[in-house]
Amino acid sequence: MTPGKMEICQPLKRQAILLFMVIATVLCLLGTGRYYEQKDRYQHVIFKGHPKTPNINFIFYTVKTSKKFYDSRLDVVLKTWFQKVKNNVFFISDEGDKEYDKRTGHRLVSTNCPTTHARADLCCKLDYEFSLLATQQASRWWCHFDDDDYVNVRNLEKLLRKYDWRKPWYIGRRTVDSYKARINGTKYPYQFAHGGSGFCMTTVLAKQMTPWIGEGKFMQTCEDFHLTDDCAVGFIVTHLLNVSLTESVLFHSHWERLKNLTEETLHEQISLSYKNHNRISLSKDKAKFDEKQDPTRLLSFHCLIYPKDKLCL
Ligand code: UDP
Ligand code: MN
Repeated sequence: MTPGKMEICQPLKRQAILLFMVIATVLCLLGTGRYYEQKDRYQHVIFKGHPKTPNINFIFYTVKTSKKFYDSRLDVVLKTWFQKVKNNVFFISDEGDKEYDKRTGHRLVSTNCPTTHARADLCCKLDYEFSLLATQQASRWWCHFDDDDYVNVRNLEKLLRKYDWRKPWYIGRRTVDSYKARINGTKYPYQFAHGGSGFCMTTVLAKQMTPWIGEGKFMQTCEDFHLTDDCAVGFIVTHLLNVSLTESVLFHSHWERLKNLTEETLHEQISLSYKNHNRISLSKDKAKFDEKQDPTRLLSFHCLIYPKDKLCL
């Protein structure tokens, strides 16, 4: 490089560094602004009680849903397993709906959490699920499910009754053996039960999570740990509270190939799910509904285990 070119390059380099610093500062400020905006965004969703808060015992169910899934998913839940545990289930959603509010027995909770699959938004809903649980005393267990889950409530109760509800238990299904959370450059191993196949914990254990979740705290927790809702629960329980995950292979999500579950063992499972063509497989002679009437196959499955239900006659 000739000296002349060097002279031109040096100020250019300095200008480029200066420009970079200005851009970085602006981005930083925008980021902070967004963070405070987010905080404001969630102020109004902080749990303030619900008139239908039940005083039930044994299992308290919360199901995460969204207005966009009322017809495609919630409808299936309401026609099937919800009928078996009506008073013990709450649906945590983003927007109210007259028809579905009625069908859920006014147990559709409109949180005003934003309607996206973004980390903080899903954490917002789980925070609400937790806050709802915290308001009622008598339950032994808290179980979370997604709205694309079918829950065999008899099997679930049978499993949970094997464990002492006075002790901290965290039960569900892993997708991967062990995860590592990276916080401030350090990696921390933890395990989590996948939210998509559902998980349960004793309310004794849930209470121990209160420093991190409930009354709006969980959105910040998820951000601090850089984790999604189910992962953050797993991190709190298995790493911070040092309670191991008790795994049950009876929980299933659409992350596994559901056709691999044989028809003979389907009734032994606790949770089932579906996504597009990944569904449980039922032989034509056993299925009450065809694929057009019952694309998830879960109405037909429900009729196999509860043939006397109104839906199935
Ligand atoms: N969900 C939500 N808001 C959204 C998208 C999803 O509350 O914008 C809920 C949905 O109702 C379900 C859960 O998050 O209970 C998981 O969503 P989905 O099954 O669509 O995605 P997955 O993570 O299972 O692929
Ligand atoms: Mn899903």
